[in-house]
Amino acid sequence: MAGIGDYLKDPLLGFMYGKIRDAGAIRAVSLDVTNICNLRCAGCYYFEEGMDSAGKGSVRKLSSWIESEKIRGTNFITIVGGEPSLELDGLHQLYQSFKLNVATNGMVKIPIAGFEKLPIGIALWGNNQTDSKLRANGKIDLFKKALVNYKNDERAFWYYTIAPGYAHEVEEVVDRCIQNGNHLLFNYYSDLSNLGGALDHRNGFGAVMEAIANAIEKYPSKIYNTLYFNEIIGTGRLYNSTWGYDVCTNLSENLSINKARFKNGNPFNPHFRAYNSDYETTRRCCTGINRSCESCFDTWEHFSWIMINLRKHAGSKEEFSNWLFTTFIFYGLNRIIEIDNIDGVLSQIHEREQEMSLIKSNG
Ligand code: SF4
Ligand code: SF4
Repeated sequence: MAGIGDYLKDPLLGFMYGKIRDAGAIRAVSLDVTNICNLRCAGCYYFEEGMDSAGKGSVRKLSSWIESEKIRGTNFITIVGGEPSLELDGLHQLYQSFKLNVATNGMVKIPIAGFEKLPIGIALWGNNQTDSKLRANGKIDLFKKALVNYKNDERAFWYYTIAPGYAHEVEEVVDRCIQNGNHLLFNYYSDLSNLGGALDHRNGFGAVMEAIANAIEKYPSKIYNTLYFNEIIGTGRLYNSTWGYDVCTNLSENLSINKARFKNGNPFNPHFRAYNSDYETTRRCCTGINRSCESCFDTWEHFSWIMINLRKHAGSKEEFSNWLFTTFIFYGLNRIIEIDNIDGVLSQIHEREQEMSLIKSNG
């Protein structure tokens, strides 16, 4: 029976797997570098659960936090918040010590000097009108501002969150982002403020998934989502598992509230902690304290769900490819591995996926 060793004889798969193996295992945490934000977006998980009430730690406290995380073996941090561009000194300290990914709303440009290779995900929730309405009460054209701030900036990718009723905007928005010289990673909207209607995640993401598939076909060298990845997020199904707390992989390992989950037999990241902006306390997970997991479509958590389940994907070359493409893209977009030509590799990944789905539908 064929196994991973056989699949790796394929030069593309062998190349990708070699890069990941050389980079080594990720020991990740998330950190709110600040509790301040210059926006109040509709349905922001951070303010929805009052995570800003943790307060903000001092510069000295951040320095000692960095030292203790180095000792603990952390090598990758997802920086969230709050708005990280409002805390550049802290961000710089972190950048000098770890591999990072930072999520920003794009209003204030994170300078290139001092942050030359920082992967920056710029949040975007729709076209100019929709994004402005949902995130700034229609008062600021955030998209326009962020397009200017990150034009042709190789560090930046759009982290484009789409609600069920807004799939019709995808083509126009993607065109603008690509013309601006950036890549894209799609995310799915959670209606945490219960606004309902077109924003309600309970309406399902069928149209959104289709719009993303069209974007991949149009711009295969620029889109980080694969069809497989979308299917897992959109359906919440991975083999015989259903997405939710019981299978969630990124839960603070030091909190007793998560202990029962760690004993249920499903894999998890034993290093992970979601740190608050006091640089000390932790919460259940990066995106929640008590929120219902039924509302969680978070892209980063789904990356992790797939990546940790290599064994489930070992049954055939196609399944292994699904796992490897997802994992490679995660390592690549977060610059955990350096690749000379990410556009070339992305095109090949999407091409392979198309071939695989053709074989599947013919077979
Ligand atoms: S920019 Fe981010 S942290 Fe600030 S309100 Fe919007 S979603 Fe929340
Ligand atoms: S909200 Fe999402 S990331 Fe948090 S515990 Fe639930 S499933 Fe996991």
